[in-house]
Amino acid sequence: MQVLFGVAIESLGAMRYDLVIFDLDGTLIAHHEPIWKTLHRHFGSDPEARLSLVRRGLAGDISYAEWFDGDLALLRAAGATRAAMVELVRGMKPTVGASALVAALRRGGARVAVVSGGLRLVLDELLSDCTFDAVFINQVWFGPAGTIERGLATAYDLGAKAAALDVLAERFDVPVGRVAFVGDGDNDHAIMARAGFGIAWGEHAPDTLVALADHHASGDMMDLMALLAPAP
Ligand SMILES: [Mg+2]
Repeated sequence: MQVLFGVAIESLGAMRYDLVIFDLDGTLIAHHEPIWKTLHRHFGSDPEARLSLVRRGLAGDISYAEWFDGDLALLRAAGATRAAMVELVRGMKPTVGASALVAALRRGGARVAVVSGGLRLVLDELLSDCTFDAVFINQVWFGPAGTIERGLATAYDLGAKAAALDVLAERFDVPVGRVAFVGDGDNDHAIMARAGFGIAWGEHAPDTLVALADHHASGDMMDLMALLAPAP
């Protein structure tokens, strides 16, 4: 009998939650700021231009996709290449226990998804051992010389993360009450409020997010199986 995080895997019957959605930055990976902020600081993009984009995006003067394209243009102008971005990302670490948790949830029969305002490259580089049933995230494609060629913005960041939960619940035919969400950031409020069971992850989670969550978990290891699987 295999025991993982104190739960006997063979004893698992139907999962308490049939769909578990994870945020990426600060949740599945132990990097406690949005990857975009890290990339712009690392490559030294124009801070005034970026601030202007953020302000216009948050004010609704430009769409999220326009904001994303503008952000990528600033990174391209600052010399960000695939190789340099990969090198930066490889200096980051997955959260301890995260990939084992994803595997255990799927082995128990739950669907597992990522809904993130981050970057697909981070998932591919740091969690390549994980299989997900769905991933909603921003993507970037690079040209032959490794420069940023184009991007595709996620339709599901910020408040729209909650809409992603509804899309996935319908896709996998799971009632919203049996959807769990694990997240840590300012962009997770709407989806946390929508989930049947919400876990605010980590000591960096803002108080306003913790207030919306059913449970606040922190520590060095993401050992959430006892919360997400039935009691043995
Ligand atoms: Mg996050």
